[in-house]
Amino acid sequence: MKYELPQLPYAYDALAPIISKEVMALHHDKHHAAYVAGANTALEKLEKNRAGELPDLDLKATLRDLSFHVSGHLLHELFWQIMQPPGKEYTPIQSLEDAVTKSFGGYEQMQKQFIGVAKAVEGSGWAVMYATPTKELLIMTIEKHNLNHLPGYHPVLALDVWEHAYYLDYKNDRGTYVDKWFTELINWEEVAERIEAA
Ligand code: MN
Repeated sequence: MKYELPQLPYAYDALAPIISKEVMALHHDKHHAAYVAGANTALEKLEKNRAGELPDLDLKATLRDLSFHVSGHLLHELFWQIMQPPGKEYTPIQSLEDAVTKSFGGYEQMQKQFIGVAKAVEGSGWAVMYATPTKELLIMTIEKHNLNHLPGYHPVLALDVWEHAYYLDYKNDRGTYVDKWFTELINWEEVAERIEAA
């Protein structure tokens, strides 16, 4: 098994001015690539350990690495997919509206909570919306890439609030990044499909 860095579904400058070309290039080509490489390195170490090489491998540390890097890879893959170039008008999607109303009471309540959660992430992490096993939606924070995941819950929307995601564009103003990202970049059609598929 080997992970591969997926191509972005749009050009590096497609999300500007909300996210600059420079940030997208660094984020995808360096940061995401490093998580893919880290996941593969951990998998290789485990394979060698099974084959009798690396008999003294620190399994606890290697599995922690694996969790961090695989989660980082999968969240970035989702992050790229649920964004689209700014300026597209939202056409209401009935299944999405129903799901949001059922779980949050309405779009505004959902938006307020998601944005609040994203701004409240301590240090490096993500704001994530999950489709739950009972077909509801739940907004969570993920610390780093891999802490707080809920088994059986399916991420359908994810916002990276690591400093590498916004610092070059917004410096310490994470709030403006979060507000602009939420209102301008989300591909709700993609999110709706992921909710339906979950
Ligand atoms: Mn990132």
